[in-house]
Amino acid sequence: MTDCLFCRILAGEIPAREVARSELAMAFHDVNPQAPTHVLVVPKTHLSGPAAADSESGEQIFGPVLRLAVQVASQLGLAERGYRLVLNQGPDGGQSVDHLHVHVLGGRRMKWPPG
Ligand code: AMP
Repeated sequence: MTDCLFCRILAGEIPAREVARSELAMAFHDVNPQAPTHVLVVPKTHLSGPAAADSESGEQIFGPVLRLAVQVASQLGLAERGYRLVLNQGPDGGQSVDHLHVHVLGGRRMKWPPG
C-alpha cells in the first residue's frame, strides 16, 4: 500500500535501521524506543493488524513474523533475561500504524499491568 508507512519502509522509500529479515518478514529499530531494545517486526505483505490473524493470509504470515521476533530477541541478547512481545489492535489497543507489527521490547524489567 503506497500510503502505508511500514510498506514504504519495506520498499526502501523511508529509511529504517534494519535488524534482520526473513523470507516473509523484516525487523527494524523503533524510531521512538520505549526500552533499551525496541524493535518492530513486520510482515512484508500488508496486513492491517493483529485482527488479521483471523484470515487465511494471516494464518500463514503470523508464524513467520513471530519466529523472526524471537530470533531477533536472541540475536540482540535478550533471550536469557527475557523480553516482551506486544501487538496493539485498534484505537483502544494503542495501534497507531495500520500495518501488522510485533514490538520486541527488552533490556529492562517490564511492568504489569501495561497501562
Ligand atoms: P503502534 O502504536 O503499536 O501502532 O506502534 C507503531 C510504532 O511505530 C511506534 O512505536 C512508533 O514509534 C513506530 N514508528 C513510527 N514511525 C516509525 C518509523 N519511521 N520508523 C520506525 N518506527 C516507527
